[in-house]
Amino acid sequence: MREKKPKGGLTLQFAKPLLTAFALGSVVALPAHAELDVATLKQAIETSVESEYPKLDALYKDIHAHPELAFQEEKTAAKLAAEMRAIGFDVTERVGKTGLVALYKNGDGPTIMVRTELDALPMEEKTGLPYASRDKTIWQGRETFVAHSCGHDIHMTSWVGTAKTLVGLKNQWNGTLMFIAQPAEEVVAGARAMLTDGLFTRFPKPDAGFALHDGAFPHGYVNYRVGVGSSNGDGLYIKFKGRGGHGAVPQETVDPVMMASRFVVDVQTVISREKDPTEFGVVSIGSFHAGTADNIIPDEAVLLGTIRTFKPEVRAKMHDGIERTAKAVAAMANAPAPDIKITEGIKAVVNDAAVVATAEKVLKEAFGDKFTATPPRTASEDFSEYINAGVPSMFFNIGVYDPERVAVARNGGPPLPDNHSPMFAPVPKPTIQTGVTAMTLAVLSAFDQRAKGQ
Ligand SMILES: [Zn+2]
Ligand SMILES: [Zn+2]
Repeated sequence: MREKKPKGGLTLQFAKPLLTAFALGSVVALPAHAELDVATLKQAIETSVESEYPKLDALYKDIHAHPELAFQEEKTAAKLAAEMRAIGFDVTERVGKTGLVALYKNGDGPTIMVRTELDALPMEEKTGLPYASRDKTIWQGRETFVAHSCGHDIHMTSWVGTAKTLVGLKNQWNGTLMFIAQPAEEVVAGARAMLTDGLFTRFPKPDAGFALHDGAFPHGYVNYRVGVGSSNGDGLYIKFKGRGGHGAVPQETVDPVMMASRFVVDVQTVISREKDPTEFGVVSIGSFHAGTADNIIPDEAVLLGTIRTFKPEVRAKMHDGIERTAKAVAAMANAPAPDIKITEGIKAVVNDAAVVATAEKVLKEAFGDKFTATPPRTASEDFSEYINAGVPSMFFNIGVYDPERVAVARNGGPPLPDNHSPMFAPVPKPTIQTGVTAMTLAVLSAFDQRAKGQ
């Protein structure tokens, strides 16, 4: 389906209007023009990605087949460092353990940051794709499969493609590109590691920042939002302390499995009865460990969970309810008070209104009704660390699946695997193409806005 181009479309005033010609690869040569319209620019970017695609495809499949876990991304980082050096970036490795900072200076002007993640997940890929990962590694003392089931490989490839495209378009902007590859997003520790290692003191502090994430919606589509874009994520640890004994003599024991089980069920009333039902809040117990054998009532049960919210007041209310429920469950069993630790995690990503407004105009024209504002995602994301360190930013999402498959799924067909599913399988080409196009236009919009002093 073809998009209708809006009439009287927006034009971008670029920093260097006296453009004679520029070439992206050898495929496109845009005419000399004082102003460049978004549709022409979009087409130039797409043509560039098309000619670069065989290389990007090989990079994507290589990274996909050889994923690495948080803070172990040595080979992945080395691959990206080599790609960025080949494009002409000045690359510093080992920032925040395995992170990269790649700078490209192109005259005076603002510094615009683009971030990708480097890490994969400790799980087995079950997509059956020819380039599926079969790699294993040691994680927390155990051997595990590793898979790019969150699609960070799509982000890395789009990041390299965007860098290449922006350098090809360097007559269109002035300033510095700051491309960062961040380790350990999945354990929400990598952004902090890079900041602690001097990301904004050893290197320039960006005037604006961008990141993208893929998701289970049609490729070619871009979703975004102003304001809150992801959740506050806090960690929950509870140890119920019982008295162990024989499974056949329960009256001599205080059963921690019963306590933990009751807690897992009862804590959901904090969500359904205590919290305002119109406000977002989730508590999920993802790990439940107790006991060793069928006939032994263990001494203790340990639960690990996650608490997700958008608003601080909802967050405080939920913390209170969770603690109260855990203590009450122990009191009912006549057990000692449980150990409860709620670790403050990552804050919500809050998109900057001005950065979004500028990018919005350009992306709306480029993508038409395939660029849509959506509600915030309930996942958490440590891109918020850069925002909280003072970088006004925009975080957006790109789709990965064939639109026909999505339509079938929405009409009651088989659901499409989401991020973190072992079946998560983006269609590489149109997804990466959209990632590069959207990110390139977003970065150009930020340069353009700053050049005009808006
Ligand atoms: Zn993830
Ligand atoms: Zn992710």
